[in-house]
Amino acid sequence: MKPQEHVAAFGTIGGELRVGGMPLSRLAARVGSTPFFAYDRGLLDRRVAELRALLPDRVELSYAMKANPMPAVVHHLSSRVDRIDVASGLELRTALDTGIRPEAVSFAGPGKSPAELRQAVAAGIVVEIESRTEIERVIAAGDELGVTPVVAIRVNPDFAVKGSGMRMGGGPQQFGVDAELVPELLREFGAAGLDIRGFHVFAGSQNLVASIIAEAQRRTVDLVSGLAEHLPSPVRYLNLGGGFGIPYTERDRPLELEAVSSALHELVDGALSERLPEAVPVIELGRYLVGECGVYVTRVLDRKVSRGKTYLVVDGGMHHQLAASGNFGQAIRRNYPLVVGNRVDAAEDDGVTVVGCLCTPLDLLGDDVVLPDAGIDDLIVIFQQGAYGLTASPTAFLGHPAPAEVLV
Ligand SMILES: *Cc1c(COP(=O)(O)O)cnc(C)c1O
Repeated sequence: MKPQEHVAAFGTIGGELRVGGMPLSRLAARVGSTPFFAYDRGLLDRRVAELRALLPDRVELSYAMKANPMPAVVHHLSSRVDRIDVASGLELRTALDTGIRPEAVSFAGPGKSPAELRQAVAAGIVVEIESRTEIERVIAAGDELGVTPVVAIRVNPDFAVKGSGMRMGGGPQQFGVDAELVPELLREFGAAGLDIRGFHVFAGSQNLVASIIAEAQRRTVDLVSGLAEHLPSPVRYLNLGGGFGIPYTERDRPLELEAVSSALHELVDGALSERLPEAVPVIELGRYLVGECGVYVTRVLDRKVSRGKTYLVVDGGMHHQLAASGNFGQAIRRNYPLVVGNRVDAAEDDGVTVVGCLCTPLDLLGDDVVLPDAGIDDLIVIFQQGAYGLTASPTAFLGHPAPAEVLV
């Protein structure tokens, strides 16, 4: 997608990008400092509404809050989604602080500490078991606390999904219990006083190809149908993962949500209803829910020309937005969409290179981008910043102040 398409999604007002219903320069004045992250409630609501309109009614929508754990964002979404998935004890507290029912919270991820597992069992949330050690620790915590732990088994599938930005299932993995070991695990622990709700399969992340997502969902239902007979009770919870990607670069095409949806309707009405009639299917999304709703706003500190190449030096950088610099697991660095946010209607002028304020050539935000003639104090906006921004970046590097974050 081109930067202008992202501008259109937010809208413009008086020649400026509109964020949270106001012109960007007014928002920047209200925030009082740059750089900052802004997340747009209207766009969040629009995204949830699109998903609700297209997903089958029986499917529950879960927010994987590690994508954006800002408490205001989590709180806003908590009344709009059905479930929240957490990945640490701190995220668990943030999720429960929204007032969501504990049973609507799940906790996935390798290496949960014994203290986190006790916290989760005590709270009565769904602990997603990633290993034999975890199941033993959960049972011990339940005994100690005098409660029945609520769990699901996270399964490392016997298939891999192509086309994911990050593959998290298939082959050897630190995630989940290998599918072929699940029957034995259930034989051993199925009657150990656990409330085992069902299964979770998460095959991968940042996938833009609808047919591959649909295939992973079909194979997940097949896999879980085979495992279901080993559970002491019917499968009531079936977390199908998610992995819906968003277009980060100009070459990326948006995911065809209609195609994912029609395949999912077929699966839910067909195989799932026949073989797992009591299972509530869950789609768990992080970046697809929040990624496109956020911008990172920086101010130009300097404009300099070095041997014919023009640089805009901004007051933000990879310490707040590691992914945009190309250092968050990307094989090839490509520019994130970027505009001069206080002059989006101005005619494009020339190619400039936008760099951050860190002392490393890695701190590159836009390599040779065509922008309107921009100079000191202009506001450079990077799109697709609602997920894996601030909390996925090395904020302590160079000791600059933390950026503000606002939900507007
Ligand atoms: C990180 C994660 C997600 C969210 O991934 P996105 O690519 O942000 O949608 C979902 N489920 C699990 C188990 C995860 O670890």
